[in-house]
Amino acid sequence: MKNLLIMGAPGAGKGTQASLIKNEYQIAHISTGDMFREAMSNQTPVGLEAKKYIDNGLLVPDTITVKLVEERLQKDDCKNGFLLDGFPRNISQAEALDKMLASSGIKLSGVINIQTDDLVLIDRIVGRRTCPVCKEGYHITSKKPKVENVCDKCGATLVQRADDNVETVSNRLKVYHEQTAPVLDYYKKQGLVIDVDGMQDINDVFKEITKKLGDNK
Ligand code: ADP
Ligand code: AMP
Repeated sequence: MKNLLIMGAPGAGKGTQASLIKNEYQIAHISTGDMFREAMSNQTPVGLEAKKYIDNGLLVPDTITVKLVEERLQKDDCKNGFLLDGFPRNISQAEALDKMLASSGIKLSGVINIQTDDLVLIDRIVGRRTCPVCKEGYHITSKKPKVENVCDKCGATLVQRADDNVETVSNRLKVYHEQTAPVLDYYKKQGLVIDVDGMQDINDVFKEITKKLGDNK
């Protein structure tokens, strides 16, 4: 059973790989970004509060984010393993996660770290398109849908995320380097980090991940 984290800068390819890993290992994919986008589209109190931060490329406060993850990890589909994508994003979230897992007797199996050069991230973020229905991710050049702007899987019209614009990107990268990158050192000390070269094409990144995770499902 695998209890994994996937980390990397915004646009590194976490969601893309998470969707492939989820299918391969049959584990729950928990993306805090997806959960916030869902809450925003439903205009829930959490969604309305989160929007203020997300629109500016800032982290949503820990009190909100940690509670969301804590409740999500208690759901049945996490019992056979999970892949957390986009959480933890700072040291205090990492410490909160440690506490949550320890109280349920769960150990992390590994932390996948997708390494990228900052120079590719703006193009990946600005060119990202997403299916609003099944959440499949695309890119205008590196992962084109068969029919322009239409989801291959469910036929819905693809959308661009409101925060995927040049204005928020620099804030998101700054937040990543200042607050999220230190989380990697936190897990390196625990010997959990699995480095993967995120500059390869999507399938090769996935091959490297499965090779390093091994067959043990
Ligand atoms: P993250 O979840 O880390 O923010 P995504 O998985 O959404 O990133 O990927 C960002 C964009 O880059 C998407 O449009 C995706 O299709 C594209 N992408 C992901 N991985 C690669 C890759 N290895 N090479 C080129 N483009 C990629
Ligand atoms: P993502 O889809 O992972 O790129 O996340 C989109 C946005 O949601 C981020 O820029 C943050 O504003 C917010 N967000 C997602 N995950 C977290 C988290 N763990 N802590 C705080 N904010 C988050």
